[in-house]
Amino acid sequence: MARDPRYDLLFEPVQIGPVTAPNRFYQVPHCNGLSNWAPSAVAEMRGMKAEGGWGVVCTEVAEIHHSSELHPFPSLPFWDDSDIAQMSLMPEAVHEHGSLAGIELGHFGIAAGNRWGRTPVLGPSSVPTFESAEPFHSKAMDKTDIREFRRWHKNAAIRARKAGFDIVYVYCGHALSLLGHFLYTSINSRTDEYGGSLKNRSRLLREVLEDTKEAIGDSCAVALRFGVHEFTYDGGPQFDGEGREIVEMFKDLPDLWDVNVSDWSRDSDTSRFSDEGFQEPFVSFVKTVTDKPVVTVGRFTSPDTMVSQIKRGVTDFIGAARPSIADPWLPRKIDEGRVDDIRECIGCNVCVSGEWSYSPMRCTQNPTVLEEWRRDWHPEKIPPKKSEDKLLIVGAGPAGLECALAAGRRGYDVTLAEARSELGGRVTLESAMPGLSAWARVRDYRVYQLQQMPNVEIYLESQLDAEQVRDFGFERVAIATGAHWRRDGVGRHHSVPVSGWDQANVFTPDDIMRGVMVAGPVLVYDSESAYMGSLIVERLVAQGHDVVLVSPTGQIAGWTLYTMEQPRITARMYEMCSSVLTDCQIASISTDSVSLSHIWSGEERTVPAGAVVLVTSRLPEDALYQALAAEPDILESSGIKSVDAIGDCVAPHLIAAAVHSGHRYAREMDETIQETPFKRDGTIWSSYAGG
Ligand code: ADP
Ligand code: SF4
Repeated sequence: MARDPRYDLLFEPVQIGPVTAPNRFYQVPHCNGLSNWAPSAVAEMRGMKAEGGWGVVCTEVAEIHHSSELHPFPSLPFWDDSDIAQMSLMPEAVHEHGSLAGIELGHFGIAAGNRWGRTPVLGPSSVPTFESAEPFHSKAMDKTDIREFRRWHKNAAIRARKAGFDIVYVYCGHALSLLGHFLYTSINSRTDEYGGSLKNRSRLLREVLEDTKEAIGDSCAVALRFGVHEFTYDGGPQFDGEGREIVEMFKDLPDLWDVNVSDWSRDSDTSRFSDEGFQEPFVSFVKTVTDKPVVTVGRFTSPDTMVSQIKRGVTDFIGAARPSIADPWLPRKIDEGRVDDIRECIGCNVCVSGEWSYSPMRCTQNPTVLEEWRRDWHPEKIPPKKSEDKLLIVGAGPAGLECALAAGRRGYDVTLAEARSELGGRVTLESAMPGLSAWARVRDYRVYQLQQMPNVEIYLESQLDAEQVRDFGFERVAIATGAHWRRDGVGRHHSVPVSGWDQANVFTPDDIMRGVMVAGPVLVYDSESAYMGSLIVERLVAQGHDVVLVSPTGQIAGWTLYTMEQPRITARMYEMCSSVLTDCQIASISTDSVSLSHIWSGEERTVPAGAVVLVTSRLPEDALYQALAAEPDILESSGIKSVDAIGDCVAPHLIAAAVHSGHRYAREMDETIQETPFKRDGTIWSSYAGG
């Protein structure tokens, strides 16, 4: 199909200093939970975006020096010439498809840990370091340190050009960069020419921009990534204050302005807390100040919104990290007139959780991300079927839907049977919870695609038992029947059922999500510590209930630290609940109250509660799978070659894991799988071995 001419604007080339981007699609720097632990995997992931039409593709922060080291977080050392060869993998992969490669040179300043190299953490002043509960402090940089820092940065820029990059960044964003730390009045208490006035606090930024231009500006574009508005830390730039003044002061210095808000949690805000284009009020002034090209972000997935951003003069480039992860081929789909095929980011930040948990980035929407190299999974191409086997998938949650889609694309005849009257499983339930409507895209994208496929049949209201499955005559069966929330309170903090769990006033998240109405003040007990507990609170408060939230840990929704939502969820819980009790567990439940005991002091208290919701853990819905697997002889005589469980039915996990599991089954159902089913890249494995 041809491109809709309304979107032609998005495909215009744009000059950035001495280089020209082929279009306006710009993958801004983003981390990936791997970095130099698996350089080939990361390079292939970036190359895939260039293949999918992103005109500019950037690295994550590349550390200019070993005093900017983040260990144990995955990061990208670009400390000296020995890193050039490895760093050049990414620009090579990106250039293959005619796109520009950008590198985000940065120094983490007081956000570094330097635990590995044991050099002092550097900052404008001596302050406790960020991002760590450890009692570390920064060294206040003296003039020699500042001179050295400029030298490191300049050398890194020269290395970047040698490695093949077209765009070289100066990083001053997210409260994560030394150059930014000089700007913050709460961090910089210097009294010399690098402290005090804004002119002084921004002196180092100016010097580094000038150094970079001088070193490589004839052949590489120099970009400045700048957080124009700081939400989280005191004393940072504000879009209507020093943020704007800095853009005015430096307006013509960089070849490109990459602007956003800070800290990282606000820049990568989730759909629970913000909509597409949410940064516009903060960043739109930049284009009115500078004539240089501007890139902004805002979880853009709609081409109409993109065009509007450009036409209204908000930005020149459509910047994206997450939309490019969820769909590396987003630009190409717009170009080919296939807008409905875009796999839209749902704004869940499961990708971000990779970095925080030291593990390869996962994506709820895109099961192939970071599997491009190690499993040879292309996001848009899949090998054709190897047989005429027919596949029955039982259960149409995220695992079943993705399995049907991937197997259908391979050309298999697929039948998808779902017990309920609607598709989507847990995604349908969860996306109806407050703030999560964008999550329905996991279902809607797949259902729309499946509806176009003549070889896939979907049956609703078809609860199957083992006998029916055996009688249908399918050669392959995938059981994707999901999981359910436990009713008895067993979870991380209770290894045996909670006393009183079997009363009529005790409910599970499934009950609340399915619309069961409860009476009286409600106590929500969240020992799962992910996102569900707070969603249940929001739903109940919206229904007019008085809610007490109880957590057996010292924090609320601990796991959501990984999606960077935890501070805002916590604040919301304190705002909504009549009381929030941490470090407490349930001792027993009665008809009108709950007895709690403090984890550490053992002190007991009784809280009135007409209803109790136990958000503790889930159990696989695997009875059908177990019944089938228990009788292999009958399976064989029924002509069934294999029965496999996929998704939550195997082990309850994130939605992203169910999607991955369904996809993997469809790819591997006719393959002989190696003992270790993915390739390993050099660095992390040799460093584990001490090499
Ligand atoms: P996952 O996350 O693994 O995809 P979900 O719990 O989201 O799992 O979805 C499982 C789906 O399977 C639900 O929609 C549920 O209604 C359906 N299901 C469960 N048991 C059966 C069955 N015996 N026959 C058909 N569908 C079933
Ligand atoms: Fe978007 Fe979620 Fe995928 Fe991240 S994990 S890219 S937020 S869909």
